[in-house]
Amino acid sequence: MESLYDKQHQCPLCGENFTSKRVKVSKVRVKRIEADFCTYYHGENPNYYSILVCPFCGYAYSENSSPVKEGEKEELKKYLEQNPPRVDFTAPRDYHLAIEAFQRALEIARLRKEKPRVLANYSLHIAWIYRQLEEEEEEKEHSAIALEYFLEFYEKDSQVDNMGKLMFIMGELNRRLGKEQEAVFWYNRIISDKKIRDQGVIRKAREQWQSMRGYQ
Ligand SMILES: [Zn+2]
Repeated sequence: MESLYDKQHQCPLCGENFTSKRVKVSKVRVKRIEADFCTYYHGENPNYYSILVCPFCGYAYSENSSPVKEGEKEELKKYLEQNPPRVDFTAPRDYHLAIEAFQRALEIARLRKEKPRVLANYSLHIAWIYRQLEEEEEEKEHSAIALEYFLEFYEKDSQVDNMGKLMFIMGELNRRLGKEQEAVFWYNRIISDKKIRDQGVIRKAREQWQSMRGYQ
């Protein structure tokens, strides 16, 4: 367990201080990265610790969460009283605890009406953990949820940092869900849209498009 250390946090909801594990940067060892950026690691997976769960009130959040507003505190506290955490998230996390942390953060983010990109990101991480466990049904279920949120992100959010990457992830999710035509549609968009300048993503889209030519 020497690859982990405790980091101090202050809960943005109840104000209590707590610690959460993190993987030491020097101990992060990437094994391989798949086309859709799903990353496999030797040893501890740093993504397992990206969700912080306050052990005092049960609030779950990440660096992507929006600041807690005064007006939503009461509803949040009521929800958390009814749904207290059943496990200790400050301990080292296995895949099971990591999924539960993401799921909890996702439910709270839905309650808070967070932006689709936050919901999409949590759902995608859950799908990735299931993929690494080779639990195909669960992976598909959560990939489909992630895809819905990514579409909403694409349609409604004006703050898209990397449109090419977003389109590529939607292409990949469709491909993995067996929706070949939709996948090709997104790869084509990336290749033909002059506004997309991320050369790495354009190259990847071209590769995927060529491997799927039969589906057009
Ligand atoms: Zn708290």
